[in-house]
Amino acid sequence: MTIARERIDFDVVFVGGGPACLAGAIRLMQLAGEQGLTPEVALVEKGAEVGAHALSGAVLNPIALEELIPDYIARGCPIEATVRGDEFYFLTRDKTYRLPLVPRYMHNTGFLIVSLARFARWLATIAEELGVNIFPGFSASEVLYAEGGRRVAGVRTGDQGLDKHGAPKGNFEPGIDLHAPVTVFGEGARGSLMKSLTAKLGLAAGKMPQVYETGIKEVIQLPEGHYFTTSEGNDLHTFGYPLGMETPGGGFIYEMSDNRVALGFLVGLGYANPWLDPYAEFIKFKRHPLVAGIIRDGKVVEQGARTVSTGGYYTMPRLAADGALFVGAAAAFQNTPGLKGIHVSMKSGMLAAEAALAALASGDAGEQTLARYPRRVEESWLKAEIYEGRNFAQALAKKMPAKLIHLGAQYISAGRGLIDPLHHREDCRTLKPVGKAPAAQPQTDVKPPYDGVLYVDKLTGVYLSKTLHREDEPCHLIVHDTGLCVTTCYETYASPCTRFCPAQVYEMETDEKTGRRHLKLNPSNCLHCKTCDIKDPYRNITWACPEGGEGPNYSTV
Ligand code: SF4
Repeated sequence: MTIARERIDFDVVFVGGGPACLAGAIRLMQLAGEQGLTPEVALVEKGAEVGAHALSGAVLNPIALEELIPDYIARGCPIEATVRGDEFYFLTRDKTYRLPLVPRYMHNTGFLIVSLARFARWLATIAEELGVNIFPGFSASEVLYAEGGRRVAGVRTGDQGLDKHGAPKGNFEPGIDLHAPVTVFGEGARGSLMKSLTAKLGLAAGKMPQVYETGIKEVIQLPEGHYFTTSEGNDLHTFGYPLGMETPGGGFIYEMSDNRVALGFLVGLGYANPWLDPYAEFIKFKRHPLVAGIIRDGKVVEQGARTVSTGGYYTMPRLAADGALFVGAAAAFQNTPGLKGIHVSMKSGMLAAEAALAALASGDAGEQTLARYPRRVEESWLKAEIYEGRNFAQALAKKMPAKLIHLGAQYISAGRGLIDPLHHREDCRTLKPVGKAPAAQPQTDVKPPYDGVLYVDKLTGVYLSKTLHREDEPCHLIVHDTGLCVTTCYETYASPCTRFCPAQVYEMETDEKTGRRHLKLNPSNCLHCKTCDIKDPYRNITWACPEGGEGPNYSTV
């Protein structure tokens, strides 16, 4: 069926309403204004509003914000707290050891604690004041190409109003083709368009594979007089229990305004144990005496999950192609050792904006012209900061004691370490078959007790993320071979998707009469974290963008 689609032409289209694209759009309009130009700029965001899908720690190094909006305080930047001290703990099951030294890249004193959802909304208001056309509730479902597929020409937004089988219903609204000489892709970690662009344009040729961590985060309301009202620091990080020393990851707790805390736990997706359930580890972290004491008498008010790209400098894709620029977490901009990504994402967007404007001025948006962006990255503080962590995720992926030796060597050599570059494996290749893995943990550990208030189960977490999807739309989780799920994957890895998904989207069911297994999907629970697209050992799952405006609706995480 041929669908008639509206076409709208812009000068630049930004894909994604996170800090990279928002900062980029603002910078573009600022520079254009200085030159007396009035470009037509669009920004599409798949969440119901900007910030609805924004989830991060989020400690913000204000370096890029100060460059972009020097009077950010006067302009009402939503700041939850300022970091007054850092605390770093090693945890065993029952004990807590405070480290006398905090690694230098985790020195956050003076930095800002924000809610990324609120911060993104604030950036969007500034972008709109400058004339950026922001389209929330529009998913970019397809890349548009020109010149026989060699040049990126824009994006197509997703069709709305399809039934389960992909047929138009009465309220069908076809997607719109947004054309531009320059399209800036900043969809966040494991963006679906970025994945297809990487394959089509060979953006990752010669690079190390990207690796990820899945973070689960909550905002918890505490009573008056809680831990942070008297504590020395208000920026806590932990490692050790419950993951142990072999699996990368750890926890954080940050003070927020109005007696709330941001609490989160990250699990490196290069883990080997197929029985591991990141959500269960998150609950164990909360149950640790140190953490349980801090959040005592609290109530979870919001929860969410998202993956972070942590591979660092050697995993960054080519940053420019004909008609396209790649920014933020989608292009692996992340200070991995410092556990911070917002400021580097913002700076990448700002530098991309310079290149986009120069391309518009010259009338040439080919890769050669847009390569001004990667050159500016190399010259700026952005490169210096990311380059120091170039081998960090790779060292974390090693076994003990090699892990500590590599990390120590990198610490004293500004990231070089003993081997540079240090190699690692893709996250989808690291699971051990159940026969070679440790036995499944006892039920008491796998299913920690929930009270529905401070310790909530996965489905309550989905509810607290305000996630919504239309039940009768095409499934946005494409399982390419369901036969493989019930045979090979079930027998070899005991269906790890039923554990690594933090939203209970995947369930393996057995028919009581026939004894046949089948994979049941609950796509309406999906938090858009992308873990399944990354960790599935057979690359059997593809996450595709559902209708715009769906998914979580974060307001404070
Ligand atoms: Fe994350 Fe995939 Fe589960 Fe959605 S289905 S919440 S993307 S793991």
